[in-house]
Amino acid sequence: MITSTVFYFGFVIFEIMYRIGQGIDFHQLAEGRELWLGGVKIPHTKGAVGHSDADVLLHAICDAMLGALCLGDIGKHFPDTDPAYKGIDSKVLLRRTYNLVREKGFWLVNIDSTLLLQAPKIAPYVPEMQSTIANLLHVSLDDVSIKATTTEHLSFIGREEGVVATANILLQKY
Ligand code: MG
Repeated sequence: MITSTVFYFGFVIFEIMYRIGQGIDFHQLAEGRELWLGGVKIPHTKGAVGHSDADVLLHAICDAMLGALCLGDIGKHFPDTDPAYKGIDSKVLLRRTYNLVREKGFWLVNIDSTLLLQAPKIAPYVPEMQSTIANLLHVSLDDVSIKATTTEHLSFIGREEGVVATANILLQKY
């Protein structure tokens, strides 16, 4: 826990508390599935396999938020054994996770995330992902960083067998 005390003419006027979190998620890729990344449907020959819509980026962001407040992980809150979450839109999971953050009195400061996949090229979709996530979490576009990298054809990612996302977030409490 990081606390920053703000003084004004020698008086403490308020304290800001910060918490950081990190999340990572993996999903297999397979033909016949839709590819959802950052809340956006991406046209591609393969999609991510999962109990929900298998949006790795939103799942990594959810885990980062939960981690920042020591609230467990996405599997604890939305178990993949629960039929209620079958095929669920991960934007719903992100909103519900952020509601937990807000209930604890915290606000999102920023997200920095990275998608790891060989194909397709993600850059054209990043602005829509940013605006989707920023709108869901009521932050500015420049509070939501989404980067993407291939693995230069190395590993399961390079063979287009899977997709990975990582996310780091900062929360603040006044
Ligand atoms: Mg997942």
